[in-house]
Amino acid sequence: PTFESMGLGEELLRGIYNYGFEKPSAIQQRAIVPIIKGRDTIAQAQSGTGKTATFSIGALQCIDVNVRSPQALILSPTRELAQQIQKVALALSEYMNVQVHACVGGKNMSDDIKKLETGVHIVSGTPGRVLDMITRKSLSTRHIKMMILDEADEMLSLGFQQQINDVYRYLPEATQIVLVSATLTQDVVTMTEKFMSKPVRILL
Ligand code: AMP
Repeated sequence: PTFESMGLGEELLRGIYNYGFEKPSAIQQRAIVPIIKGRDTIAQAQSGTGKTATFSIGALQCIDVNVRSPQALILSPTRELAQQIQKVALALSEYMNVQVHACVGGKNMSDDIKKLETGVHIVSGTPGRVLDMITRKSLSTRHIKMMILDEADEMLSLGFQQQINDVYRYLPEATQIVLVSATLTQDVVTMTEKFMSKPVRILL
């Protein structure tokens, strides 16, 4: 399939082409449609496959720009990755009026709080800082529709299991879960069983 055949918004499609993508990569061909249909999705994929754009496109397609509150939450293992994801989502949404916030440790909490108060649509962050912002009520989970767990295996080996569980407990019951992992270790599989219902599985 082409990007046009996926049912994406016109502004998002423009952003994708303007970013320089001509045709979807293998993971994009298989994962974008189930994600935008709202299915829980497990993708076994490494860096370099186009995974970041896959879930960024999914998140951008799912948000309503008129709702000034976080609707998609992306968790990843490092500050650098969370910021890289923010950049990709911002670039792809060049023609949409979307606010994407990177919520990462090592920076002033008050900057985070101020930015979140302005009403962001997508939050890309590390589990610890995101949980902090949720428990301080600076990050509202009320309108979250989708949580994306990027590099899930890496997050678990870095010891983020408890923080991810805690974040999950704050999400609305029907929240869609998208999980990307290079390896499907037993811990990753256990997490998918806890968080997901009837997931679509994509192995590359
Ligand atoms: P990732 O797997 O997210 O680390 O992405 C790997 C690289 O592939 C990044 O530099 C992306 O910009 C690039 N990329 C992702 N999707 C496409 C596409 N459909 N066409 C061309 N390049 C892409």
